[in-house]
Amino acid sequence: MFPGSGAFDERWRPSARSLNAMGNAVELGYYTPYPNSFRRFRRSEGRGAESVREDGRSLALNIDTHVLGPLENNVYVVSEPASGALAVVDPALGGEALLEELLPQAERVAAILLTHAHFDHVGGLAEFRRRLRAPVLMHEAELELLQNASEHGFWLGVEGIDQPSDPDRFATGGERITVGEDSLLVLETPGHSPGGLSFYSESSGFVITGDALFFESVGRTDLPGASPQRLLKSIREKLFTLPENTVVYPGHGPTTTIGHEKTANPYL
Ligand SMILES: [Zn+2]
Ligand SMILES: [Zn+2]
Repeated sequence: MFPGSGAFDERWRPSARSLNAMGNAVELGYYTPYPNSFRRFRRSEGRGAESVREDGRSLALNIDTHVLGPLENNVYVVSEPASGALAVVDPALGGEALLEELLPQAERVAAILLTHAHFDHVGGLAEFRRRLRAPVLMHEAELELLQNASEHGFWLGVEGIDQPSDPDRFATGGERITVGEDSLLVLETPGHSPGGLSFYSESSGFVITGDALFFESVGRTDLPGASPQRLLKSIREKLFTLPENTVVYPGHGPTTTIGHEKTANPYL
């Protein structure tokens, strides 16, 4: 029926749960009660003033949120002000304007990071990589998802995903990804997908969680390679051990904090 289709495709056939009233695919399983308008604007939430080096320059990272693509993905641009270095996280479809904005500073893009390889998080990856020429990092266990991303999108009603090639490098928990003079710590948070990663900035007190943890919700675990037990373990052991005032930047929807989720998340 489709190139490469087989048993795997059956598991990706949209279920009632993954279709909204319009018949469009909705995100891989999170349901959040906030109004759409909340998600439409672009936020800049730099926290750079909190940490200053001896020479007076900021050491912290800034993070910009861009809500892009049919599933309203949060695409994050992390920047390190002292050097101007950047990292792009989860380039979704619909990132043409963002890409134009980034192109003049393409040589400063240290990496394109993937929290995981569900099609909505990699919809713009091929184009971003081609034009920014930055290395792509993700966990090795996401490879099958990445290699089928375009087809999974098609099955869930999102056409036009340029199939990305394999990443430049696999990232594992505990390593640091350099962004200028600062870095992001890689946390392994699988469960929503087999090789889900979160990226933690100690200096700025934020963590990018992909679809593992959302505002008062968690990622769905009814897709191939998912495991509810693993997801809850990841959240409890990797995310809930971060300081309570850590700001959570999820793959969809509004930011939250570790402290808020510990008390208000009904799944935990
Ligand atoms: Zn996902
Ligand atoms: Zn997603």
